Amino acid sequence: MRYSSHVIASLCLGAAAAAHTALPFTAAYTAGLAIGSLLPDIDEPSSYVGRRSFGISGKVKEAFGHRGMTHSLIVWGGLAALVWRDSASPFAAGLVLGYLFHIVEDFFSVQGVPLFWPFSSKRWKVPLYRTGKGMEKALVYMALAGFVYFGVNGLFREWWRSLLFGW
Ligand SMILES: [Zn+2]
Repeated sequence: MRYSSHVIASLCLGAAAAAHTALPFTAAYTAGLAIGSLLPDIDEPSSYVGRRSFGISGKVKEAFGHRGMTHSLIVWGGLAALVWRDSASPFAAGLVLGYLFHIVEDFFSVQGVPLFWPFSSKRWKVPLYRTGKGMEKALVYMALAGFVYFGVNGLFREWWRSLLFGW
């Protein structure tokens, strides 16, 4: 997926999560979602985040390959525990969820993701789309529609209020 697709899809999933739980749909939460949804592609130097990683991404790719360890649920669990222990804030919740949603989104691509790395490098997938192709765009439009749906049903008001009354 393109980075913009990841951001839109993760905002939609994050909005769905906030609409059905007690998660606060605040500016900090959505910022966390957007950043978290970009982080796993740090293992690809040509990705949006890779080009801004000061060379880290080249090293990660060299060591583990693209869509390797950063796309593992095990690695996600470890990172999530670290972040959560450090600060259980709306921003951290968004960050942790955005990262998870990225893995889920790549799970539906033809390349798949190694969900259980380092225990197995098997790539798991339910191949729905090919990166950059029409189906990805269709899914992104659906995500955008879903995001707007959750937004007009109350979340946007909560979001604006969070801007006015602090993060
Ligand atoms: Zn990815």
